[in-house]
Amino acid sequence: MKILVAVKRVIDYNVQIRVKEDGSGIVTDNVKMSTNPPDDNAIEEAVKIKEAGKATEVVAISVGEEKAQETVRKALAVGADRGILVKAEGTVEPLAVSKILQKIVEKEKPDLVFMGKQAIDDDCNQTGQMLAALLNWPQATFASKIKVKEKSLEVTREIDEGLETIEVNVPAIVTCDLRLNEPRYASLPNIMKAKKKQIEQINASDLGIDTKPRIDQIKVEEPPKRKAGIKVASVEELVQKLKNEAKVI
Ligand code: AMP
Repeated sequence: MKILVAVKRVIDYNVQIRVKEDGSGIVTDNVKMSTNPPDDNAIEEAVKIKEAGKATEVVAISVGEEKAQETVRKALAVGADRGILVKAEGTVEPLAVSKILQKIVEKEKPDLVFMGKQAIDDDCNQTGQMLAALLNWPQATFASKIKVKEKSLEVTREIDEGLETIEVNVPAIVTCDLRLNEPRYASLPNIMKAKKKQIEQINASDLGIDTKPRIDQIKVEEPPKRKAGIKVASVEELVQKLKNEAKVI
């Protein structure tokens, strides 16, 4: 079984996001970039399945600028066997990414595609679902547990009401939740070994995919500053304020 894992390069989740002064976007110069957090869970799960002898190859893929190679390289350092970088400049929206992944799936013929449930930069939560639709494959989104069976997967999903367990036939798309596992750190020897692993580079235009954004970003602004809270002297005062001022009870 072969597993393709999509990893996106995003601003590190610890970075305090700053909006550009002209409101045209956010500051990305000299900002630390990392793998989108749930994509680390997706790689970890694929590598664990391979270590359990249930997969033969894990291939990591990223779509983006040349520097997204670092994201693929990190996936190689934690156990992926080989990498693919599909080069495209600027913002590549979920539909274009899913069309690119569709082409790569047709070429690589994986049995499973693992992805993150959501990218923390655009918060779209669309790419996996769109890819499933384009390929006409079953999808299991927000996976917090995956059990590999003979020709199917049993996937526990995080939903508003709690947990749901479904079974999907392979080939399938799985989007991973942060609760799925604890991603491992890349050890220094493995980082060194990853340097020798192969990363194939492909231009998005050579795949015949137009990556031009379809969405016009009109303005980006900081959320309004939160007002300072107040202290009340007693429970009675709190209830009175909730009733008469906030009008929430
Ligand atoms: P989104 O639909 O943008 O929230 O992204 C959901 C998931 O799709 C991410 O967690 C990644 O696994 C994958 N993905 C989105 N964009 C890219 C990209 N440019 N390169 C690789 N994977 C991506």
